Amino acid sequence: MVASIKPKRDELGLSEGLMLIDGTWSAAQDEQTWEHRHPATAELVAGFPIAGPADVDRAVRAARRAFDQGPWPRARATERIRVLRRVADLVREHGDELLALQALDNSVPLTFGSVYATSPAFLADVFDHHAGWVDKLAGQTLPPYQGGDHMVMTLREPVGVVGAVIPWNAPLMLAVQKLAPALAAGCTVVVKPSEYATFAVLRLIRLIEEAGLPAGVLNVVTGPGEPTGDALINHPLVDKLSFTGSRAVGRRIMTAAASTFKRVTLELGGKSPAVVFPDADVGTAAAITMGTVTMGLSGQVCLAPTRALVHRDVADEFLAMAEMIGSMVSYGNPFDPAVTSSPLINTRQLDRVLGLIETGQAEGARLVCGGTRSDGELAEGNFVTPAVFTDVSNDMTIAREEIFGPVLSVIPFTDEDEAVRIANDTEYGLAATVWTSDLKRAMRMTRAIRAGTVGINGYQLEPHAAFGGFQQSGLGREGGQPAIEAYTELKTVLFPLTDEMM
Ligand code: NAD
Repeated sequence: MVASIKPKRDELGLSEGLMLIDGTWSAAQDEQTWEHRHPATAELVAGFPIAGPADVDRAVRAARRAFDQGPWPRARATERIRVLRRVADLVREHGDELLALQALDNSVPLTFGSVYATSPAFLADVFDHHAGWVDKLAGQTLPPYQGGDHMVMTLREPVGVVGAVIPWNAPLMLAVQKLAPALAAGCTVVVKPSEYATFAVLRLIRLIEEAGLPAGVLNVVTGPGEPTGDALINHPLVDKLSFTGSRAVGRRIMTAAASTFKRVTLELGGKSPAVVFPDADVGTAAAITMGTVTMGLSGQVCLAPTRALVHRDVADEFLAMAEMIGSMVSYGNPFDPAVTSSPLINTRQLDRVLGLIETGQAEGARLVCGGTRSDGELAEGNFVTPAVFTDVSNDMTIAREEIFGPVLSVIPFTDEDEAVRIANDTEYGLAATVWTSDLKRAMRMTRAIRAGTVGINGYQLEPHAAFGGFQQSGLGREGGQPAIEAYTELKTVLFPLTDEMM
């Protein structure tokens, strides 16, 4: 069995209450608790209270009061910048602690914190980046359309109370992508972390609070989708819902938003292609593609390139390298520096991934390696050996469904047109990678592929770059200017300067 990783209660901050409502950490009114079992060992990490509708209502009303009457939406730019920069400093200072809590949440190995996009440095940079926007959220001054003596201006104002719902796979990074722009814009927030990754987000919230936010600006409620998330997304006093997670819940968010026309940002799933041409460095393409599908979060990554579209001439070379990378994956205790990859988050996801691997074989794809539940000392955890399928056609279930596990499907193609057709033959559109040494081809492919982010010979997420999906991968963008603008309303000011125009 993997060595016990049971934390002390104090390490989780459990002794102080888990919900921050109106500046006070408190327990839920309801007695119900959620039990978090560690995905690597099945041990009970901790039980924590489930916020019911009454708790959520208190949190939303606190955020509403803080928005309607409190200082934060009206604060000077310098004040908001000061607080956000302080958050960035605190996150850098407490980076190791945050990563350790994240490992207790979802078992992502500590080593994964050295990858920039999941590192404390990235979290801090997102706060710094949005701090930089606070005094640059400009509207426009327009020339009068019909001539005459009047002023036409637009202003950007905070959108109001934000309900932020976070998944478990990269809880810190995904929380920060919402909290930094929302707070920078002057909004107030109620955040609900995933029931499978609560503790790291709670520590992050404490750091943000410590940086000097007024009471009620940032509130947190813990618990699962039902009843906690459901109460938040349906609350009539919430102005905007910002969600990262599955399509199924994304649809519920849109339905909930309809009743009061809440603004919505959705970051959903993907089935991203990596398109590998024969003129690419095929070994690197295979190593990074398979590495992204297996290292760190074991493919539980929204933008993972799970469909490798590989030119027939280099398919064997690609497969050999992908298989080798798969064999380098090491599972176990996330605090062990030799461990590279996490288990699947829960037994439901384990069964689903194993079921999809069976379906792939039944539909005629060839399993080159992996695809079984790990046994021996890993038997208690939700580990699946990294799987590579070849002879996959794009209409098979494994090429269409987001598997969210360490499973790569290799789909052969013959020419560029066919590659584009297969790449775009999906309901998703989150990301894509093009591997080629031909610059013009790289640009043609980038233009032709319908996805929110396209990497050329690799990619690295950046705090100032927009990220989001085409089609069913989502609505709106996180990161950069579009992210902060999504937490604002645009107000037009019409100001006649002469009495004749009134
Ligand atoms: P999920 O949709 O099951 O859960 C996400 C969040 O929604 C959790 O906090 C959950 O408690 C909450 N929720 C569930 N039911 C709800 C309801 N009825 N009302 C309100 N809230 C509810 O997703 P998950 O399993 O946590 O995460 C995996 C999914 O997230 C994958 O599809 C993945 O692609 C996607 N994801 C997308 C991005 C992105 O940036 N596009 C990033 C990471 C993950």
